[in-house]
Amino acid sequence: MTKSVDLRSDTVTQPTAGMRAAMASAPLGDDVFGDDPSVNALQDKIAGLLGFEAALFVPTGTQSNLCGILSHCQRGDEYIVGQMQHCYRWEGGGAAVFGSVQPQPLNHQPDGTLALAEIEASIKPDDPHFARTRLLALENTLGGKLLPFSYIQQATALAKSKGLARHLDGARLFNAAVAQAAAAGGEARAEARRIAQCFDSVSVCFSKGLGAPVGSALCGSREFIARARRVRKMAGGAMRQAGMLAAAASYALDHHVERLAEDHALAQRLAQGLAGIDGLQVEAPQTNIMFVDLTGPAREQSDALLKHLAGQGVLATGLYRLRFATHLDVDAEGIDRAIAAIRQFFGK
Ligand SMILES: *Cc1c(COP(=O)(O)O)cnc(C)c1O
Repeated sequence: MTKSVDLRSDTVTQPTAGMRAAMASAPLGDDVFGDDPSVNALQDKIAGLLGFEAALFVPTGTQSNLCGILSHCQRGDEYIVGQMQHCYRWEGGGAAVFGSVQPQPLNHQPDGTLALAEIEASIKPDDPHFARTRLLALENTLGGKLLPFSYIQQATALAKSKGLARHLDGARLFNAAVAQAAAAGGEARAEARRIAQCFDSVSVCFSKGLGAPVGSALCGSREFIARARRVRKMAGGAMRQAGMLAAAASYALDHHVERLAEDHALAQRLAQGLAGIDGLQVEAPQTNIMFVDLTGPAREQSDALLKHLAGQGVLATGLYRLRFATHLDVDAEGIDRAIAAIRQFFGK
């Protein structure tokens, strides 16, 4: 049987041969003692790349956001966040559960931004009735959408002028950077740094489009990262010979950033291949994630469609709104198989 085309998420990738070799030969130490050279090298590399003093390697993006929020906020503080952001909606309420930090979620505009006027209006005055508003958290990309850079500059400047810290959930920061570089004619690493420098802290996932098996990094000032290291310990995320994992992440940073453009092109290819089918509303992808809404009578067919696709070795997720993510382990032939299987289902 041919290999399945797994479009459920960009987390499903297998380490490449080069990445496995880097992992196998990584020098190791005990990172809780600060002795793992491969972890230290990765932390220096990502901090340097994004223009921060320090970085902390953590097992997951969820823990990275938790360390970030809990290092900016105390009990009874509040962070402003979008309804659909991972660090509000998809992390089990961790900041509230573990940190007693209250979220102030705002609805997104159609382009994924949070309206500046709503951010400003949600900042509470210093009054014992209210939680202390301490932090603005943004996410880029958000559901595959690239936040406009001018918006990021305005929102983070507003937050700063109001005395708030700024955290970026940049799980897919490099997807954003590659898309921004393509649009503006810049260079991806420079764009990543430009975005990151609008924030006091940035979390980046190595296990999404970058193709590493495990791991994220939180970047910030030395003093901020020292606080985050304590939260990571409390959360059980201080690992020992973690250099094998850090080496994979380091390899990904060296080899898998610019190639994200290929994933973006494949998402476009998929969108174009699905144009013109009744009952399918395709949202033009900006990066590596494509959403398709099932409308009219097709709306009730999402389960049947996903089953049909799985039978053809094509995997996706969703209900009414299907999600397809492209990544390192998908190629044009796989995308064409997905298009053919979907067209077959609709008799087109
Ligand atoms: C995947 C993801 C995370 C969390 O990463 P895990 O490693 O799965 O915990 C955080 N934020 C965003 C935007 C993500 O896509």
